[in-house]
Formats: sequence, structure tokens, C-alpha cells
Amino acid sequence: MPEIPASIAAASERAAVLRREIRRHARLYHALDSPEISDAAYDSLMRELEAIEAAHPSLVTVDSPTQRIGEPASRLFAPATHARRMYSLDNAMDLDELDAWLKRIEGALGEEPCAFVCELKIDGGSIALTYRDGVLVRAATRGDGTTGEDVTANIRAVRDVPALLSEDARGVEIEVRGEVYLPRTSFDRLNAEQEAIGAPAFANPRNAAAGSLRQKDASVTASRELATFVYALADPQALSLDTQSEALAWLRSAGFHVNPDVVTCVSPSDVHAYCEEALARRGQLPYEIDGVVVKVDSLAIQERLGHTSKAPRWAIAYKFPPEEKTTILREIRLQVGRTGAVTPLAEFDPVTVAGSTIARATLHNAEEIARKDVRVGDTIIVRKAGDVIPEVVGPVLGMRLATVAPFEMPLLCPSCAGPLWREEDEVIRRCTNVACPAQRQERLAHWASRSAADIEGLGDEIIARLVDAGLVADVADFYHLRREDLASLDMGRLKQDGSQVVLGETVAERVVANIEASGARPFGKLLFGLGIRHVGATVAEALVDAFGSVDAIAAASVDSLCAVDGIGPKIASSVRAFFDNPDNRAVIARLHEAGVVLSGQRTAPQRPQTLAGLTFVLTGSLERRTREEAGEMLMALGAKVSGSVSKKTSFVVAGEAAGSKLGKARELGIPVLDEAALERIVETGEVPVAPEPAVTS
Ligand code: AMP
Ligand code: ZN
Repeated sequence: MPEIPASIAAASERAAVLRREIRRHARLYHALDSPEISDAAYDSLMRELEAIEAAHPSLVTVDSPTQRIGEPASRLFAPATHARRMYSLDNAMDLDELDAWLKRIEGALGEEPCAFVCELKIDGGSIALTYRDGVLVRAATRGDGTTGEDVTANIRAVRDVPALLSEDARGVEIEVRGEVYLPRTSFDRLNAEQEAIGAPAFANPRNAAAGSLRQKDASVTASRELATFVYALADPQALSLDTQSEALAWLRSAGFHVNPDVVTCVSPSDVHAYCEEALARRGQLPYEIDGVVVKVDSLAIQERLGHTSKAPRWAIAYKFPPEEKTTILREIRLQVGRTGAVTPLAEFDPVTVAGSTIARATLHNAEEIARKDVRVGDTIIVRKAGDVIPEVVGPVLGMRLATVAPFEMPLLCPSCAGPLWREEDEVIRRCTNVACPAQRQERLAHWASRSAADIEGLGDEIIARLVDAGLVADVADFYHLRREDLASLDMGRLKQDGSQVVLGETVAERVVANIEASGARPFGKLLFGLGIRHVGATVAEALVDAFGSVDAIAAASVDSLCAVDGIGPKIASSVRAFFDNPDNRAVIARLHEAGVVLSGQRTAPQRPQTLAGLTFVLTGSLERRTREEAGEMLMALGAKVSGSVSKKTSFVVAGEAAGSKLGKARELGIPVLDEAALERIVETGEVPVAPEPAVTS
């Protein structure tokens, strides 16, 4: 969550901005059924406001969105006043908050045993249904909890709502509560239809359900395939029931559709297990859920615990970890990679997203920043793409302050102040200065990395210190390091007694031994470690196969390089250029001198050619690896990688800011994969299942 301002003035200003924006989104959501941001992002704004109000109680206003349930009813329907108030539910945002709630209940009850009923939290709209002598007489939405909208005519169009209850249930007047929802398949169909008639698509099944129910013309509602789950009686004691589980059984026998996924638990660990299992099964259910509702089973205990102004104390909604949060963008920092590529990195106040804390995410390039229009100082929405890679979704525009200025991509390298270049048809800017310190650091670290020379103990920090001390400038220098140089290496910190922290004998000895051993790593890995542009691990193996030694590669013409399978003119000329550079030749000579073995045979076993016969096109920028690396990895599995989309393309892999190729793919109906799917292919070698053609909204 963004840091809570310590000063009252700053907190008050932020709270006001939050309230205004939350109100706007609440209106878009409730009154217009057309949200602009996800529920998770909305919740995140609400949480921040709650935290500010908790830290500065004097700032709470009576009309603050934190003090209200839902939205007042619109004027489209007659108002329907609830005989008993319809409450909201308190939320537990993670299992710790759930535990705290369970403990609170335990504490309030002392020795008395307490069972809990766990139910799925159906993501739809709440509804109250009144039956008189077993006949449905009224249906109302929750509205603000006191007064909702009369949607009786519409509810009659929902097939699984009984118009008449079973005989045993007809005695008294009863009111039941439940959730109206739209099954996933109906949602997909509805959106396809919306698209076909040029109407805007619904953002999610919940809004589609609310929108479908609140139709002036009930025949439209009838066409929408809504369904219900009923989960409560407004006054169960009137029927002399003792527990929530009995109430559910009663509702079922009365003829209501009651969700079967209900479990009664006696221990907190069973409650946990249910929550975790529900989270895992979430995607397989034919309808959407956004959490689990845990309720005290005994109605007598429920009554004793009572309600707050907003919600019952005897129930809690455990919300699944949101995939999106809001935070504040503090800085856009430029990173210089090994090949000089300069990428902007968003640094924001740390937030927990889908279970882990993130504080930075790549913004890929200047075009991407402009397209998303994110600016330093903005409140931004962040998420984890494919649940692993942090991503900036965009700014919450309504909260932008007037002082916030658009980001301007610097023209000079942040490391060496050399000019940045932009190649044609590339969005990335590069520093071309071979002596650029940032690139040097990255090149050295690349050589030492696992997939190259694999020198254990030679991490980023030691490398940086070695460079600072003037001991290492290129990869050959590693092999000329002496143990005493390393042992006395200044680590840039002071001990408590004021003396310098140095690397020390023991570590130095180990690192020197590891460096020495690395000279005998497989040739393909060392060749990859040289960091020749466009030569990834797979191309390196191909070169090893074809030439057998670095000297043979250095002597090869562009034509003979091009003759190698998997090597095109772009790679060939890059290899040529590398060995034509006298500095690079000197490094190779000194590696030879140090006894590093730059010859040998392919060692990496060939992977099974599971993708043989398939053609991939990569577009947009990827987070985990460059497009070229990704291409190589696909080629290593036997795939062909092409630069343009045609009918022959089997799959298009689309990263961030994918452009016309993605459009072409959609046009031709070619399946589009995201980066997560690509990672799965690379890992397993399995042919991807073609996803459903994307529905553009
Ligand atoms: P909230 O909308 O976040 O205040 O959450 C409360 C809402 O969750 C209730 O008004 C119900 O509409 C909904 N809900 C969904 N499933 C259940 C359930 N099994 N028990 C109680 N409420 C539920
Ligand atoms: Zn530079």
C-alpha cells in the first residue's frame, strides 16, 4: 500500500483525492454497470483510504465511502424497503486476517465450542426474495442495505427461482437472501452477442449479472440465463432452526437452489484448508467466486455477537489474494543492460500482489510509457501478469495531480553519459559506448552466470568492487586475478571498529579456485558467455557444432556463417563484427593465454524436437528474455521462427506493446499466446493448446 502520509495536511489531501475517485468508480460500477477499473484495484483504493482514516481518525467524514454499504438505489425501479437490513460483510484480505477474526470469536466465546460454516462467496449481486404462503411476492436488490430496488418482474424471469415453494415451506411469510449470478458460459455468450451487435462488452460476470437483472424490459432479463444461489433466511428462528447449516438444508428442501459446496468446520485449520482449496478450484467452477464466506454456525451465538453498523460480527468474507493493487509511482529509473539496451524501470511503494511483495516492474521502453501514460507521482495499478511477472497496468487518471509531468526519455546514457541510439524498427534505445561502465558490469556478470562460465561466488557486488578497484575490465581479467588481490578487496563497508571490510582469505581462495575451474566449462557455454549480440545459448551450440573452436569461428566469413542451420545474416554479421573488433580479439588472446579452453564439441544435449513443423512469430517485448532468446529456445525444440504473420503461422507469441503483427494474427484467426504460455512451452517442450480466439472488447 502507498505510504500513509504522516502529516495531517498531506493525509487529508490524499484522502480527499481518494474519496472523490472512489465515489466516481462506485457510481460507474453500481449505477452504470460499467466499471473502468477492476474490483481489486477499487478495493485497493478503498483499503488505502481506510488505512489513512485509521491513522488519522480526525479525517473520517460521515459521507466517506468507507462508511457506507453499496449505493443508493437508482430511479429506474420502485424503491423496496427491506424488513430487515441487508448487511455487507467484513473482509479478511489474507489468511492472517482470517485467523485474527477466528481468534476474536474464540475470545468472545471463552470455553464455549463453536462450529463454522464455510461457503463460497459467489460473485454476483445480492437479492432478497419474499414469499407469502409459499408464493413469490417481491424481489429486491440490496441497494444501500435499507432500501433497494424492486426487481420482482425481472426475478420471475430467472429460471431457478421458485415461484411457489414446496408444500412444507408454505406456512409463514419468509424472506430469503441469495446471490444472482451469470454462469461463465452465459457470460461469454452474452459478450459475443454484445460484440456482434456492436454494443460494449461487460467487464465481468458480476456486472453482466447486475446489468441483466436491472433491465426495464424483463424479457431481456429472461434471455440472459441468470441463475441464483440462496444462502440465508432473514429470520431463521421464526422457523425454529438452530444453525446456519440447518437453514441451508431447509432452503434446499423448500425448492431453492443452494450451493452444494458447503462445509461445517470445527477447527481453524479446517477453515484454512477450505479457503485454500477453494482458491485452487476457483478456475474450474462454472461460475465466478471472489472468496469464501465463513459464518458462525449457531444462530444463538450469531445473535449474541450481533452486528456493527455495516456488517455482522459473526461472519467474514475471506477474499482471494487480488491480482491487482494500487500504489504510487516514485521513480522511473533507467537500467543499462549488457548489450547497451536501456530499459526504464518503474519503482513504486511496495505492495503485496497475489501473495508476494513487489516494488518495481519494467516499463519496457519509452513508447510503452507514453502509451500507458504513466508519470512519476501517479497513483498506478500494478498486477502480476501470469501471476509471476510484475506489471504496471496504468495510472488511476482521476487521481493525477496537476504537478505531475510526462516522462521524458533521456538522450544520454545514465551510466556513461554517451549518446543513446535507436535502431530502425526497434523501440529500444541503446548505449553504443563499449567502455560504458554499466554495460561492462553486465557483461562481466553475464560471463560469470550459471548458463555461461558459471563461476560460483562471483556475484554482482564483488564484480562491481573489482571494477571499481581497477582489477577487472574485461572477462579475461578474471583469469589473471591473484588471490591476494581478492583477499584484500575493499568491500566498501566499515566494520564496527572503523576498519575496512575486505573479502578475506577464505572467500578469495574459493573464488580463485572457481574461476580456474570455469576455464574448462563446455565451449558452447563459454562462447555464449562472451555476450556476442544475437548469439544466445542455442546459436552458440550451433556454432560449436559447425566450427569446433573460437579461432575457426573468428576466421569464418559471413557466408560460411550463414550456411549454418539456424544462423541468418543478422547473426552472421554480428559474429563477424565481434571478431573484427581488435579489443575483442585481444580478450580472446588473453583468455587463450590464461588456459581457458575455447574449443570443443556440443555438450548441451539436443532437446526432443517436439515443435517440429510449427511456425512461431514473436511480437512485442517480453519480460523474462529477449525476443531473440525466446526464438532460439523455440528453435531448439524444432520450431521455425518467422518474422511475419501469415496463414502458415501456427502461433503468435505476443509480449507487451505488441503491434500490427498481433492485429494480423487476430485477423487470420491465428492463436495468440502470452508470455506465461511461452514459458510453459520452453520449460516442458509441450505443444501449446490453442486458446480460444481472443474476443476483442
Ligand atoms: P460485499 O459485497 O463485499 O459487501 O460482500 C457481501 C456480499 O457477498 C453479500 O451482500 C452477498 O451478496 C455476497 N455473497 C456471496 N456469496 C455469499 C455467501 N455464501 N454468504 C453471504 N454472502 C454472500
Ligand atoms: Zn553507457
